[in-house]
Amino acid sequence: MDNKTNSSNFIRNIVIQDLQENKHNEIITRFPPEPNGYLHIGHAKSIVLNFELAEEFKGKTNLRFDDTNPTKEDTEYVESIKEDVSWLGYDWDNLYFASNYFEEMYNRAVLLIKKGKAFVCDLNAEEMKNHRGTLKEPGKESPYRNRSVEENLDLFERMKNGEFKDGEKVLRAKIDMASPNMNMRDPVIYRIVHAKHHNTGDKWCLYPMYDYAHPLEDAIEGITHSICTLEFEDHRPLYDWVVKECEMDKQPQQIEFARLNITNTVMSKRKLKMLVDENIVDGWDDPRMPTIAGLRRKGFTPESIRNFCREIGVAKSNSVVDNQMLEHFIREDLNTSAPRTMAVLRPLKVVITNYPEDKVEMLEADNNPDDESMGKRDIPFSREIYIEQEDFMENPPKKYFRLFPGNEVRLKHAYFIKCEEVIKDTAGNIVELRCTYDPETKSGSGFTGRKVKGTLHWVDAKNAVPAEFRLYEPLISDEEKEDTNTFMDQINPNSLEILEGYVEPNMKEVKLHDKFQFFRHGYFSVDPKYTTSDKKVFNRIVSLKSSFKINK
Ligand code: ATP
Ligand code: MG
Repeated sequence: MDNKTNSSNFIRNIVIQDLQENKHNEIITRFPPEPNGYLHIGHAKSIVLNFELAEEFKGKTNLRFDDTNPTKEDTEYVESIKEDVSWLGYDWDNLYFASNYFEEMYNRAVLLIKKGKAFVCDLNAEEMKNHRGTLKEPGKESPYRNRSVEENLDLFERMKNGEFKDGEKVLRAKIDMASPNMNMRDPVIYRIVHAKHHNTGDKWCLYPMYDYAHPLEDAIEGITHSICTLEFEDHRPLYDWVVKECEMDKQPQQIEFARLNITNTVMSKRKLKMLVDENIVDGWDDPRMPTIAGLRRKGFTPESIRNFCREIGVAKSNSVVDNQMLEHFIREDLNTSAPRTMAVLRPLKVVITNYPEDKVEMLEADNNPDDESMGKRDIPFSREIYIEQEDFMENPPKKYFRLFPGNEVRLKHAYFIKCEEVIKDTAGNIVELRCTYDPETKSGSGFTGRKVKGTLHWVDAKNAVPAEFRLYEPLISDEEKEDTNTFMDQINPNSLEILEGYVEPNMKEVKLHDKFQFFRHGYFSVDPKYTTSDKKVFNRIVSLKSSFKINK
């Protein structure tokens, strides 16, 4: 269930005040990803904020692809982003591409040139850096700064027509080389890139820079509140300068908030792409990735991600959220919605010697003992079953209440069994247990004769469905190592464990993404990539218990 709290945050307060002062008839927000990778959980924070703010005040939200960088962008990413936003549960009012505004952006740049507010500069990147100055010292003006309007117009048009090579010339805003804000020191607003664009193909070889393009995109769409992350705070004067000097009708307001960081997680498309390109993971949707696609494949629900994003809130200073908090929300969701069932991840065969050879009996079990509406199922039980290897010890320590020679335990939904004999192979490995059962102790029969301390899960050996289980640990270790240069040195080599075991016979028909609580093991989801008609593959989403407490 969604718990929309509409909890107060400073951005919401700004919106409320603007509406009270009749600054806008309607608020319009946008989610503006660059299609250079798949969305991650950090983007989800921005999606939830933008869409829910507009929804609360009956406004609109655009999905806009900020595609001004042809060499990094791709339609594969465009499609995945649309899928992920929809899957999270949000409908955009309009779908736009920044590249559709290239003509208008170009015309506005011509306007800047005509007003003497922009010039074509021939300095190369190195020279430009040397001219920029430092925080303490003003920069030096470019020798090309005083080109005439006519010359600038001519050169800019020839840049557009493809007469120059990449990097040969740029267009710069003419602002103030002595500004204490480095972003205002004649920033580059257009660059030459001869590359095919995913949307406009070969039409352009001149591309606007982010700081020039973004405010225009917002103003063209009539965005009222342009929400971005804190690192753009120092760019806000330039944002406002562009909107004003380009003589846009509408003045959007840029508001910055803290980006989401999570422990044991890298949160940048660039880094995530490295993990994909270097085959550290099996794609953008690898369940260890913090991408929306990865979380979905692992088994997270849209509700759990939305609730997590609402809970972390919106702040003005950066912090790191514990990854257990995200797990808390999926546990909370699946606790009420996932049927209970039994799976044996590391099987050990048990033969119940006093159980009739050909008999199979059906035992009744609740799909969720806390929720009758989830119904019941029948589980077959017969002479041979599997239990978990770790539920038997030949020489147990004190307080081990599971199976050991001579000890009696309860089989969930079935009978008490007692271990009579341990069978080993020639190498001394335990390969089978011989047990006896007591027919009097059937689950649900009201038997009170004696008590046992351990309850084990199991599956019937003859009818069990073979299954693969994938258990995950964080991909990135947070431990400080001495020889760490990049996050690639922090990769946990044991982030994936693959086990072959069994699930209950009635799991034959499971569908991709179906979710279950495996008794004692945690919540699992059917993997859409590796599951075939012959083999079910289950991803562990989370284990059952956590020490994590949310402060409410
Ligand atoms: P990345 O570095 O991962 O590519 P980005 O900020 O460059 O992130 P964009 O595609 O430009 O990614 O971002 C789209 C929107 O999502 C922006 O408004 C951005 O502020 C927001 N966003 C990106 N990462 C986070 C994050 N970690 N927390 C909150 N918002 C984020
Ligand atoms: Mg980016």
